[in-house]
Amino acid sequence: MTKDDIQNYRVLALKYRPTTFDQLIGQEAMVRTLENSFGTNRLAQAFILTGVRGVGKTTTARIIARALNCTGPKQSQPRRFDPCGKCENCVAIFEDRHVDVLEIDAASHTGVDRMRAIIDSVHYSPVSAKSKVYIIDEIHMLSTAAFNALLKTLEEPPPNVTFIFATTEIRKVPITVLSRCQRFDLRRIPSTVLESHLSHVTQCEGINIDEVSISIIARAAEGSVRDALSLLDKAISYGATSSESELRHLLGLADNVRTLDLLESVFSGHIEQALSILREQYEAGADPVVVFQTLLEQTHLLTRLKVIPDLKIGQELNADESSMLNNMAQNLDVPVLTRTWQMLLKGLQETQTAPHQLSAAEMVLVRLCHASSLPTPIELVKQLSDSTKPHISTHPGETPSPAAQETPSPAAQETSVPFRQSELNPKSFSELTELTAEHKEMRLYANLINDVRLVNFSPGRIEIFLEPSAPESLPKKLAECLKDWTGSLWDIIVTDTPVGQTLAQQHQSAAEERQAKAAKHPTVQSVMTTFPGAKIVDIHELSQLDENEIQNNGDNSK
Ligand SMILES: [Zn+2]
Repeated sequence: MTKDDIQNYRVLALKYRPTTFDQLIGQEAMVRTLENSFGTNRLAQAFILTGVRGVGKTTTARIIARALNCTGPKQSQPRRFDPCGKCENCVAIFEDRHVDVLEIDAASHTGVDRMRAIIDSVHYSPVSAKSKVYIIDEIHMLSTAAFNALLKTLEEPPPNVTFIFATTEIRKVPITVLSRCQRFDLRRIPSTVLESHLSHVTQCEGINIDEVSISIIARAAEGSVRDALSLLDKAISYGATSSESELRHLLGLADNVRTLDLLESVFSGHIEQALSILREQYEAGADPVVVFQTLLEQTHLLTRLKVIPDLKIGQELNADESSMLNNMAQNLDVPVLTRTWQMLLKGLQETQTAPHQLSAAEMVLVRLCHASSLPTPIELVKQLSDSTKPHISTHPGETPSPAAQETPSPAAQETSVPFRQSELNPKSFSELTELTAEHKEMRLYANLINDVRLVNFSPGRIEIFLEPSAPESLPKKLAECLKDWTGSLWDIIVTDTPVGQTLAQQHQSAAEERQAKAAKHPTVQSVMTTFPGAKIVDIHELSQLDENEIQNNGDNSK
């Protein structure tokens, strides 16, 4: 580079700034609408341009300003759509020195006073242009008072005045202002369009750069032409256009193939490997946040591949990446991918705000590796329902022996699925009958009380004797209900040796006992003597003291 070259050097973003709508890339929809408006002379007096940084908002505003004021030849329409770039107005606007075209950065002039000064000048006729143009950049930064002052002018704009607003945050612009503007949403430029633009620029500049490097820059620019050209500038000035790894290092990017390796070790739960790839990338200059952004991008691609098997991903990726992605997609499930996505997204936020980003990123990877061994919700449900299939064993004729009750036979252990301890499990036969009533299984409830004698009760295993009045289906029904209510498998064993009593018989005996007990109570005895022939029909709870009295009386009587 000679001294002259250095003096004349302009950053690429400025040098290749579009001056006509033809040169504006990636905004075809907007250009078409503007073309129609100019063609039919139905132009709004206020425009608002929104979009992420570097997509061409202020560039578009300037082209509109020139199109409104161009006095060049070939004027078939009242207003020329594509400015000539040669007439006095075009040149002056291009060099940012036209008296009637004012460009204001709202970020540095937020106050109402500045806005009042601007608004006062609106009412003076243009000096040399056809139309006065006010370009206000970052309009969302204006104060409420400034917006209010502006609004009055927007409601009744003087003729020959056009406002063009630009903003990255359209949501912060009051609806009262928005409703008075023609709005254009400038889109992110697709990376393929950016790539061809970058190729064009490097050809014009006579720079040697390979396709891979161009595609790396285009993807890192995330749809912004200005960012793409700044990155290219940076790469050129560091001489990093010839080596892919140098370029990644310079731009703080992660190696996509290595992040895919990282993702694979996460899915297979290899914590050590995952951490070492992260550290290697970090040492090679990759920002942990960028690594996570890449991992998110790749998880998103994998998910798309999974749900749309015919998806063409070749354009965005090199051959290595796409074959790796295709292989990985085959072995992964959508629930696993969506869970990974959510965890990565949360991890990205944590990493961005953490005081030490690498540590935060490592913690997230450990969590991800750990999660890879956990079942997905669907797998969990499947496992549960598999382990709780109805399982009824009846052993008629088997005499219960204490030993057999304590330890189930090895065969039984093999066939039965482990019984899970749970809050839902009834702990006794009477709790079981209460559970039956709670679930409104009144027939089963009645059967359990009247037709069943409990031989043995332990969690997961109930041994019963059935009265002749019991329905044949009772053990099956009971096992099914218990499975539903407790989520566990219960063994219902039926013996044919009558032992003990049914609950109804027990209640009857208990009632008789209480009645007999009550009859011994001194108060009751005195009532009985006062009212001969009276019967004890209902017994209300006796106080502890009374019970003791009865006990004592009983003891004394012995
Ligand atoms: Zn012109």
